[in-house]
Parts: sequence; C-alpha cells; structure tokens
Amino acid sequence: MNTATFLKDLFDFIEQSPTPFHAASIMCRKLLSRGFQQLDEGAKWNLKQGNNYLVTRNGSLIAFSLGAMSAPASGFRIIGAHTDSPCLQIKPRIRENQSPYLVTGVEKYGGAILHTWFDRDLSLAGRVSCVAKKGDGRCLLIDFKDPVAYIPSLAMHLERTVNESLAVNVHNHLSPILAQGVDGNPLDLTTMLSQQITSQYPELEGASILGFELFCYDPAKPSMIGLNKDFIAAPRLDNLLSCHIGLEALCQAGESSNAMLIFTNHEEIGSTSSSGALGSFPDVILSRILGNTEEKSICLHHSFLLSLDNAHATHPNYRDKTDSDHMVLLNQGPVIKINASQRYATNTQSASLFRLIASEAGVKTQDFVMRSDMVCGSTIGPLSSAQLGIETVDAGVPSWGMHSVREVTGVTDPLLMYRTVCHYLNRSSLPRFSPTQD
Ligand code: ZN
Repeated sequence: MNTATFLKDLFDFIEQSPTPFHAASIMCRKLLSRGFQQLDEGAKWNLKQGNNYLVTRNGSLIAFSLGAMSAPASGFRIIGAHTDSPCLQIKPRIRENQSPYLVTGVEKYGGAILHTWFDRDLSLAGRVSCVAKKGDGRCLLIDFKDPVAYIPSLAMHLERTVNESLAVNVHNHLSPILAQGVDGNPLDLTTMLSQQITSQYPELEGASILGFELFCYDPAKPSMIGLNKDFIAAPRLDNLLSCHIGLEALCQAGESSNAMLIFTNHEEIGSTSSSGALGSFPDVILSRILGNTEEKSICLHHSFLLSLDNAHATHPNYRDKTDSDHMVLLNQGPVIKINASQRYATNTQSASLFRLIASEAGVKTQDFVMRSDMVCGSTIGPLSSAQLGIETVDAGVPSWGMHSVREVTGVTDPLLMYRTVCHYLNRSSLPRFSPTQD
C-alpha cells in the first residue's frame, strides 16, 4: 500500500468518525465488507477455525481471526487501541437565561486542551434514543456534519491579560452557541435533534426522543501541511490513527495465526465502564472463544498485546518539556513508550520484540521516556496487561499537540507503523525473550 492511498483512507475514516460510536460502526462495516461475521453477545456462538469475527459494545469493538493453522491455545497477536478522544459533551438541558440565544452547557470529556475549542466551526454528533411510531425503541447515530455550534473568545479589549494567563472555566466560558431565536423564542435542542433524525432517517419522522449523548467536534478536514507536506494535521488522531492502522493490518493478515483487535471506548476518562479496558468486555469475549479453562490461561500466556496509542514527539518550541536525551522526531518511526512506574506496560522483553519486528520490517524505532521531574500519562496497555496478564508493549506514532482539538503527526509515520504492525501479525512466529530463570 502506498502513502497516498493509506492517508486517504485514514482521512475518510477520521471524517466519518466524530464519536467512538461512529468509529465502531464504521469499523464494523469495513470488517463486514472484508468477510468478517458479526457476533451477537446475546446469542450462542458457533466459532470455526479459519473464520473472522467481530463484536461491538457501546463504542468498543473486538475483532478476531481464528487461524486456520493454529489452535487458539497457541496465543493471540493482539492490537489494542481506544476509540474515544477528548472533547466537550453536551448536557441534557439547554442553559437558561441566555435568550435570545440557544446555548448549551457542556461537560469536559477527558483531558481536552480547552482553549483550542474557541473560535472554530464546531459540529455535533452522537447517538439518540427514541421511540418510533410503532412503539419500537431505537438508538440512532446522528451527525450534523455542518458547523452548527461556535464558542467565541472574549474580545482582547475585555480581558487584557489573556495572553499572559488564560483560565478557562468549562461551566462559564465553553458553552457552545447554537442559534438565535426570533422574537425571543430560540429553537430548542429537541427540535434540532428531531429535524436531524428526520433528515438522516426519513422513515422515523415524528419519533419521540428519550435521551441523547451528544458531543461537539471539529468538522475541519484532515490536511497535509508544511512546505513539503511533511506533516498531517487532523482532529482525533489520538487515537483513531491507531485504530485505522490496526484494522487495516488485521484485514491483510495471513490465515495462519490468531489475531485480535481490542479497541475500547472511555480510555480518556479512565476506562472504567462496561465497554472500557477496565470493564468486562475483553475478558468476556476471550472466555467465549476459549472457555474459562486451562486452555484460556495457556492462550493468554502465549499471547502478546501491542498497545497502540500516539506518543509525544519533542516540540521544537517547548524542548525543555521533554527529555533531551530521548528526543522523539516526527517521520522517524514508531515510538516505544517506557515508564518505570508502569504507566506504560512496556518491559525489556516486549520492547525487544517490538524493536526486532520493526527492524525486520525495515522500520527504525524511537524511545519515549518522560522527563524525570514530570508526571507521565498512561494508556490502555497497563490496564489490559494487568487485567489479562498478557505481555504488552506500549507504542505509538509520534505526535504534537496531543488532546488539542487538532493534532499533528508526520506524513510518513502512519505507514511506518502500519508496516511494523503488518509484520507483527504475519511473522511465522513471534520472537520471545524469555527470562533465563523463571
Ligand atoms: Zn490516546
């Protein structure tokens, strides 16, 4: 696959996935079109070696290929990632006393960099529960796509110290403005949602809305930037980029080994949910494949988790924020994330495996370690590794501006990681670096 094709598919995926629910749905459709069968958690399964399956749950997706040549007990090559990104979540009721404007309150979802949400066209997407005329309950994905919301800055003249210190109060300052009413009667949110349902699902016109999870997002298209187009700027690169790489790699994996994607929702808010990495979803699916038997324990022992989540590249304007002995550059290959406190699950064995796989694929790797006087972030790797006991490496594509509404990576980085992940899935067996005494 060449860079242009890969990036076009990535950009399409990002644009079609404003929320984790959309991302899971798009990935589900892609996998179905490539021969995967969708499983229902509420029905009995009849799995067969050599077949490919997927399951979704609340914005999470697990897909797996049962190798034709190897029993599940020989282990799964797993790729982990998360489907959610930091953003602003709309509250159920609109803000009062804002007449004639329709203004909604928001909650901060995850560790969003708040000031990046000012002064840009915003859209809304999420899911809405409603009852159709026949009394059937439905949960619909909706996406306004158009810029229907905006959060203007306060003018410089009204806050002269803004460039020295910008304190953003989510409750007071980040309420998106959606409309201006006529004669003091703005549209209400339910009417807007009903109109959107009718436009996307004409057959459901008149359905009664019972609830919604609605999020602001940046509808600006991903773009290639720089004099030589060295960089990619896009919303939600963390972590839709990793989801795209994992899914495309799984789709081209050979039939001999067992491979699995575990893409979970709610990483940005701690992963504790029915569909998060700390929830039951991965373990339930593994138990249904393997049974709660010794065979499952053997399988987990032989499995390996490549936990993909973007990594911090050294920022040219803030070099002192990263360890100068461990500089990470864009366009220089995947980053292995290391932390003494196991905020990343990488250990010497798992890092060595990843380095060897990458070098065999002709790809250089880099190491990220936090400055020793700063607190390190984390990802799903340590959580999944602790829950399942699987050997894990945390790795990711280098990026700038993580958790901004728009993030940046190198133009060659997605394909470099993709090549590495493809080799990880297709190598005849995984190299192991067993301890000499164990
Ligand atoms: Zn992430």
